[in-house]
Amino acid sequence: MSSCAIVWFRQDLRLGDNPALVDALNRGFAVVPVYIHAPGEEGKWPPGGATKFWLHQSLKSLDKDLHDHKSKLILRTAGSSLDELRKLIKETGATAVFWNRRYEPAAIERDTTIKESLTKADIEVHSYNASLLFEPWTIKNKSEKPFRVFTPYWRHCLSIAEPPHPVSKPEQIKAPAKFPHTIKLDELELEPKIKWAEGIREAWTPGEAGAHKQLEKLLENVLANYGEGRNRPDQVGVSRISPHLHFGEVSPRQIWHRVKHEVGTKRGAKAKEGAQIYLKEIVWREFAYHLLYHFPHTEHVPLDEKFRHFPFKRDARALKRWQKGLTGYPLVDAGMRELWHTGWMHNRVRMVVGSFLVKDLLLPWQAGAKWFWDTLVDADLASNTMGWQWVAGCGADAAPYYRVFNPTLQGKKFDPEGDYVRRWVPELAGLEGDKIHTPWLLSDEELEQAGIVLGKSYPTPIVDHSVARLRALDALKSIKEDTILK
Ligand SMILES: Cc1cc2nc3c(=O)[nH]c(=O)nc-3n(C[C@H](O)[C@H](O)[C@H](O)COP(=O)(O)OP(=O)(O)OC[C@H]3O[C@@H](n4cnc5c(N)ncnc54)[C@H](O)[C@@H]3O)c2cc1C
Repeated sequence: MSSCAIVWFRQDLRLGDNPALVDALNRGFAVVPVYIHAPGEEGKWPPGGATKFWLHQSLKSLDKDLHDHKSKLILRTAGSSLDELRKLIKETGATAVFWNRRYEPAAIERDTTIKESLTKADIEVHSYNASLLFEPWTIKNKSEKPFRVFTPYWRHCLSIAEPPHPVSKPEQIKAPAKFPHTIKLDELELEPKIKWAEGIREAWTPGEAGAHKQLEKLLENVLANYGEGRNRPDQVGVSRISPHLHFGEVSPRQIWHRVKHEVGTKRGAKAKEGAQIYLKEIVWREFAYHLLYHFPHTEHVPLDEKFRHFPFKRDARALKRWQKGLTGYPLVDAGMRELWHTGWMHNRVRMVVGSFLVKDLLLPWQAGAKWFWDTLVDADLASNTMGWQWVAGCGADAAPYYRVFNPTLQGKKFDPEGDYVRRWVPELAGLEGDKIHTPWLLSDEELEQAGIVLGKSYPTPIVDHSVARLRALDALKSIKEDTILK
């Protein structure tokens, strides 16, 4: 009888391009696939409501795929993954544990302890890269330091060998003589008790098959126009693959090589251009992991130290209005409501709502990051941290703080007919064209015709953007002066 190994699934909820699974099988082990839910081990970032909902669906889908391979997913919930792995080793007689690496600071610390402890107990431990194109420690600048600016990082990535090709999905998964006990998926209590997640359920198909459908849609419908489409929240211009990537239902290597192969063989010049821009976005994700790996403290504090003492305000009412999409700025409100309803928001709108929180309302970027963490289905520590520090002007390669997004001009430029706002802010739907972006500038008659009572059916602006912009610049000056004085 062959010996058995535990394959510990984490953020790699797929069978394709899964090196931990494939290597365990190649070494002749019978495999016990395991998922351990241990939110207490995620440091300050246990999964939020939206990602828990996604996780439930994704685990269900993985279990089904394993059943199709005459295997099954063993679920456990634990305070300590190490204790649970030890129990599983005892129950199954496993002599090895295989997993794909994670790169968040708390996960690295936990995995290092587990590896040391199991190795000491004579259990083989094998870990692999399955969620990045390049290991973060292999990418260095000419001075052997980590990159802090994207463009040279991107150029460097292009100058080194192509990311490895994905490994194939196993045809068979050798099962142990007897599977250990599994708890029921519902016992993980990942789905919300109240029905707020119905919009998310409608909008997405979590799981590996859903991820690959999304990839096909990218190739069929999105890539050729990605250069422009990626800025247009009113169009289907982006791949919406981020939650699938976060949960590892598809790997960046699969995306990289599929996009390259497709445009290399079949598609036209526009798709080639779109593909180049798209792959650059995938490398932005890599850059986020590169930053978090090399500067782990940035999950809480700005990379740019002078922003540590930025004079942010505490204003719970303003924060609530932002969270609920009631700021009186239609593009901001549309984004925040799209987020609440579907668990996702277009990147252009993330930048606008982020800038609005940090610069117009002078609220700390950490408050925005926390809200996104709880409401995004793609909430990802590396990308969320980088995204928020970018909008706040305090991260690597950040937008300079003094460049303040104008939510009205952004709306007119990237949602020119107002369709995006009309969809998510239905109380403004009676307004035609780009007037929808400035209801406060309309005459009483125009508002009445559209059935809008400003201040009642839709809020008046929470701040005057032009005044708020100057206040933000003053705040910036104050920290610059502080720095000079020091
Ligand atoms: C304030 C803020 C917070 C963010 N929080 C997250 C987060 O928690 N999780 C997350 O996955 N992304 C985050 N992003 C990045 C980006 O908005 C999303 O990755 C993107 O909107 C996902 O949609 P998509 O898959 O259609 O993207 P596409 O435009 O189709 O891009 C393809 C993929 O490239 C990667 N990518 C694209 N843009 C970025 C970027 N700016 N940074 C990092 N990766 C990128 C993503 O993996 C994305 O799925 C954040 C951005 C901002 C400004």
